[in-house]
Amino acid sequence: MAQQEDVFKKLVSHCKEYGFVFPSSEIYDGLGAVYDYGQNGVELKNNIKKYWWDSMTLLNENVVGIDSAIFMHPTIWKASGHVDAFNDPLIDNKDSKKRYRADVLIEEQIAKLEDKINKEIEKAAKRFGDAFDEKQFRETNSRVLENQAKINELHARFAKALNDNDLADLRQIILDYEIVCPVSGTRNWTDVRQFNLMFATEMGSTADGAMKVYLRPETAQGIFVNFLNVQKSGRMKIPFGIAQIGKAFRNEIVARQFIFRMREFEQMEMQFFVRPGEELDWFAKWKEMRLKWHKALELGDAKYRYHDHEKLAHYANAATDIEFEMPFGFKEVEGIHSRTDFDLSSHEKFSGKKIHYFDPEQNQSYIPYVVETSIGVDRMFLSIMAGSYCEETLEGGDTRVVLKLPAALAPVKLAILPLVKKDGLPEKALEIMETLKFNFNCRYDEKDTVGKRYRRQDAIGTPYCVTVDYDSLNDNCVTIRYRDTMEQERVPIAELGNIISDKVSMKNLLKKIAES
Ligand code: ATP
Repeated sequence: MAQQEDVFKKLVSHCKEYGFVFPSSEIYDGLGAVYDYGQNGVELKNNIKKYWWDSMTLLNENVVGIDSAIFMHPTIWKASGHVDAFNDPLIDNKDSKKRYRADVLIEEQIAKLEDKINKEIEKAAKRFGDAFDEKQFRETNSRVLENQAKINELHARFAKALNDNDLADLRQIILDYEIVCPVSGTRNWTDVRQFNLMFATEMGSTADGAMKVYLRPETAQGIFVNFLNVQKSGRMKIPFGIAQIGKAFRNEIVARQFIFRMREFEQMEMQFFVRPGEELDWFAKWKEMRLKWHKALELGDAKYRYHDHEKLAHYANAATDIEFEMPFGFKEVEGIHSRTDFDLSSHEKFSGKKIHYFDPEQNQSYIPYVVETSIGVDRMFLSIMAGSYCEETLEGGDTRVVLKLPAALAPVKLAILPLVKKDGLPEKALEIMETLKFNFNCRYDEKDTVGKRYRRQDAIGTPYCVTVDYDSLNDNCVTIRYRDTMEQERVPIAELGNIISDKVSMKNLLKKIAES
């Protein structure tokens, strides 16, 4: 675990050092859980968004996009349930003055007990070697059984308190299980209070009676309220989907894990409208399709898993998360939810406008059911960085840090490097740059030894470098160096554009999803 934490720290500093992610307002000591993307980060982020957008709108004839505003009529958030129920239970430690999510403190306590069990198992596995039977050990070892019983008891009480919205019992659990503040080490806790995660602001001047509006906490509602607009103007027939990418804002209580949990972040959401009764089939289809999208990136299939929800939101009849193995454990990157007709019915009720679809095949009108896929761009970014970051020891004992990014997502596709800074080699290299800059993102670099320049490109995940040497002036060939294998290949300059374009094309990723 300590090793994994170490990897995470290295990843965060790598993001900063190489222009991927900076803390917001850094010269003013930062702003909690808000981040800026740097020169390489923005390219990677744009490529992730394009990969998602193209996979939705190009691969599915019946999925179209929109871009709705961040500000929306405040009643929308009444209808969606966010004003009344988009809350987290918070608790403060009176000594450290630090604020925590009460549910997270309890979940961490459960994780600690699980850790204890895992340590017992590890110890025993070492002691017994090949003869070790984990199942039997779990069923018979007294320390494991004791801790498992504690977990079960805590879990049951915690689930009941959450379900009943019993804030007093959430606090009592924290006291009974002697959970201490990680900063002060004390148990001097305040009461638990509900805290709404929406940011509010005012629209219009106060003299006119300003209206309280919210920064949207999700992009989905912009899609629901435009359902009829898109359906009618696009003559869309059910089933069809509406996709949207945009900023969302949540006043998260605890925001510690870098860009995993931010107060301003970006979502890529798609709402798929279907006939009532067909939603669970579509849920299964989208669940499968979304995992394919992730796996096509080839970061390692074992790094993904589904986590089906046992406790469903009141409006959902099926829900699952796609989790990725981050350096701090398996975590949700995307949610797929079957939301029934909750949202459209609710907007119909609150707006007083009929939101029905007339189905010509069934010759009847109904409120469509919705299957949603919802993924955070920033979490996806983090999973890709974590899955690509490698430290390698090379022959001869040298080390290198390399980001093995999928070529189609890499910020820079090709680095063009003259072997030396004289004798016409820079001019030749710049000539290549001038031709290829129309195809993909190229970078020219003439500073330092070629070895050092390769390392710089490895660190930002550039999949291909070409060196222009003295022979290039005569034979019009250059040497391509491959990032992952470090192998080199001599190719004619005239063919370079086609060779690299083919390797870095988003088409390859999209085909992989469609074929698999
Ligand atoms: P969590 O349980 O981690 O708070 P959630 O279940 O509230 O997440 P959803 O409301 O389902 O998340 O949002 C869909 C997606 O948006 C998530 O899977 C995640 O990728 C992203 N997301 C949600 N909250 C944040 C945040 N604060 N920072 C970055 N991404 C987020």
